[in-house]
Amino acid sequence: MAIIEVSNLKKSYGKLDVLKKITFDVNKNDVVAVIGPSGSGKSTMLRSLVHLEQVEAGSICVSGQYLVKDGVYPKLPEIKQITAKMGMVFQHFNLFPHLTVQENLMIAPKLVKKETSVELQQRSSELLDKIGLLNRAKAYPANLSGGQKQRVAIARALMMSPEILLFDEPTSALDPELTGEVLQVMKDLAEEHMTMIVVTHEMGFAKEVANKVIFMDNGEIIESGHPSEIFTNPQFERTKVFLNRSL
Ligand code: ADP
Ligand code: MG
Repeated sequence: MAIIEVSNLKKSYGKLDVLKKITFDVNKNDVVAVIGPSGSGKSTMLRSLVHLEQVEAGSICVSGQYLVKDGVYPKLPEIKQITAKMGMVFQHFNLFPHLTVQENLMIAPKLVKKETSVELQQRSSELLDKIGLLNRAKAYPANLSGGQKQRVAIARALMMSPEILLFDEPTSALDPELTGEVLQVMKDLAEEHMTMIVVTHEMGFAKEVANKVIFMDNGEIIESGHPSEIFTNPQFERTKVFLNRSL
């Protein structure tokens, strides 16, 4: 069953067409890896799904509700309700520097006020334990390594109990020796059947963990399929050239 249906998304910046007829589905429990050269529109596509960018045409339907239908957006409360189904993890972590690790986890759900402080404390402690950072609960982001910061950012996204997690190059800002710990957390989530869309240059992760790969170039989806198809038998020259450079 499709949890996200994207059809014919179009967006431009002036004369530059950044997204051209982007169409794809994400099923529940899918791990989708989005690959492609820098500037191909991967971030813009991902950011459109959570309304950090507006599209000019096309539709995005998230578990049955339209975030945008044929280029028309609903009113803000409805948009917020739909984007709340998704959590986002950015390349540069975007943690609040003035809050401790645990406060970073608790701040967003606290504003929603569905849970008591005690419940939030408990749930955030459990998540920190899960990512191996319970002992850093009272630390500030500045005192963490990049890998630790990104693990905290993932835990923070999970605090909102999203149906889908989106990652925009989550390991690209990290020193190579720190990427493994972040990829491991993502792999664990995949094994727990979290639905994820991951923009990544980590071809190993795409091959090993994803069940669907989307190759984008120049604002278009050139091809998509199971990693065993895309990596071993790409159909298009542009995909072959990109993979030859990346593998
Ligand atoms: P990717 O994530 O694949 O590297 P992006 O989605 O970031 O690609 O960018 C796609 C294209 O859109 C690039 O050519 C980029 O320069 C351009 N672009 C992105 N954001 C803006 C913006 N705010 N204004 C103008 N051009 C932009
Ligand atoms: Mg990008």
